[in-house]
Amino acid sequence: MIQNGKVVGLAYVLKDSQGQKLDESNGADPFVYIQGAHQIVPGLENALEGLAVGAKKDVVVSAEEGYGEVNPDLRLTVKRTQFPGATDLQTGMQFQAQGPDGHGMVFTVADIQGEDVTIDGNHPLAGQSLHFSVEVLSIRDATQEEMDHGHVHGPEGHHH
Ligand code: ZN
Repeated sequence: MIQNGKVVGLAYVLKDSQGQKLDESNGADPFVYIQGAHQIVPGLENALEGLAVGAKKDVVVSAEEGYGEVNPDLRLTVKRTQFPGATDLQTGMQFQAQGPDGHGMVFTVADIQGEDVTIDGNHPLAGQSLHFSVEVLSIRDATQEEMDHGHVHGPEGHHH
């Protein structure tokens, strides 16, 4: 059964509240993660706890238990001149910058009005409820090395 320290292989489909498909992983290319290592959103991790191989489940994850609510503080308007070398700046472009806590963050260009550029550091799925349909394909014990690294090794996981 799925519990902390297990490496889990999943097939899943992720849709938004409007039923539009956002992401999927099928049986030929399963998604693998370590239960309890906070690699997936908390609402999904909690819902998968205790499931066995072959189990299928539909899970609705609230924004709070998903990628969080939209944080208006992460939406900023800056000047175009702060993008040196970006002569073809366009809405939807993503780039890395240093966030308020000093960690690297991904910002998306949300709007451009003349010299004013609005950037948004929220996760693209922040504020949304997530609709997962999952099937459990495999469960095994994580190795000590995987536990130390916090991610899965092997053909479907991380390569060093
Ligand atoms: Zn590793």
